[in-house]
Amino acid sequence: MKKSLKDISVKNKIVLVRVDFNVPIKDGVISDENRINAALPTIEYLVANDAKIVLFSHLGRIKSEDDKKSKSLEPIAKALQSKIKQPLVFIPETRGKKLEDAIKSLKPKEILIFENTRFEDVINNEVVKNESKNNPELGKYWASLGDVFVNDAFGTAHRAHASNVGIATNIKESCLGFLVEREVEMLTKGVQNPEKPFVAIIGGAKVSDKIAVIDNLLTKADKIIIGGGMAYTFLKAQGHKIGKSLCEEDKLELAKNYLSRSNGKIILPIDSANAEEFADVKPTYSGVDLPDDVMGLDIGPKSVELFESVLKGAKTVAWNGPMGVFEFKNFKNGTEKVCEAIASIKGAFTLIGGGDSAAAAIQMGFQNKFTHISTGGGASLEFMEGKKLPGIECISDK
Ligand code: AMP
Repeated sequence: MKKSLKDISVKNKIVLVRVDFNVPIKDGVISDENRINAALPTIEYLVANDAKIVLFSHLGRIKSEDDKKSKSLEPIAKALQSKIKQPLVFIPETRGKKLEDAIKSLKPKEILIFENTRFEDVINNEVVKNESKNNPELGKYWASLGDVFVNDAFGTAHRAHASNVGIATNIKESCLGFLVEREVEMLTKGVQNPEKPFVAIIGGAKVSDKIAVIDNLLTKADKIIIGGGMAYTFLKAQGHKIGKSLCEEDKLELAKNYLSRSNGKIILPIDSANAEEFADVKPTYSGVDLPDDVMGLDIGPKSVELFESVLKGAKTVAWNGPMGVFEFKNFKNGTEKVCEAIASIKGAFTLIGGGDSAAAAIQMGFQNKFTHISTGGGASLEFMEGKKLPGIECISDK
């Protein structure tokens, strides 16, 4: 078990908190503040317990000096300030005397936030990736600024960066923040020790992204529903005609292998909503074999019914990836219906593994209908694959 924030004393200590403030932002306007809100419990706890608080996060990717202009954390610091009573200082630096002095002068309950950690990826116009490649000197330096490290950024927990692993391996004491702790608890309950029957639903565009998840789920789940673009590779592996649908030819053998190992666990679509090209047009429908001149962009209504019946009675459901091109209004039906079906199962533990499915559920106003919607796309996927996440592994054990 990893240490929790409640396991350590933070009073009067400088607490370095890696948060995930990687929010969608354009021209300084934040369109979704969920990630800021999700960090509040940890921040408020630290204030209540007299810590001196230093927050930091990455925002987007920094590949040039120019990227830095639109990727400052300053607007995020302002948004955070409007949510907390405590005065907050923003220091537009990632290192140096100004930052060090500001941290040294913090009093208990005061909060400082410093600049985008990925500004360290580009120094003097040169791409050095000090943050993203976990430069040992950088992790050591950031660790030297505080007494305790709290990792509360789940979205980057599958990456070993200087701002998580680098600091944790160079500081005496570290722990998980409340957000990450809840993610670990929920994903463990949902995928590692699921109450049965456990139904997993996997969708999205690419088989190659989800292979490892399906592999792991074959040993854990009672049923694995596969929808979205990746389903067509599986259908082709079964000998069906898939027209112009997405297909990963080099994954056909693997799909066959999974199907033969699945003992009927894998459930595929039985009909398809199609278009002649990749466009938001009125769909035509086909059974499991598609005409040559169309591509499947969503599951059809019979598949929706089939998937609903498989979901009925499930005690645990884990969902990752849309059932079709849900960005097109004509092809979002499958994703919406499946989302609704999962949300309406009574007494089940229901989990969404971040990314597009989380966005779809929130967009439909279902955010409170699931037991847990993960804040991390890649991180929750890797967790579901059964991998150890470096951003969690690096934290001190209880
Ligand atoms: P992923 O990142 O692998 O979860 O894939 C998400 C993307 O898959 C979304 O942008 C969907 O539009 C896309 N997608 C889902 N179903 C299909 C399909 N049948 N054909 C093409 N793209 C799809």
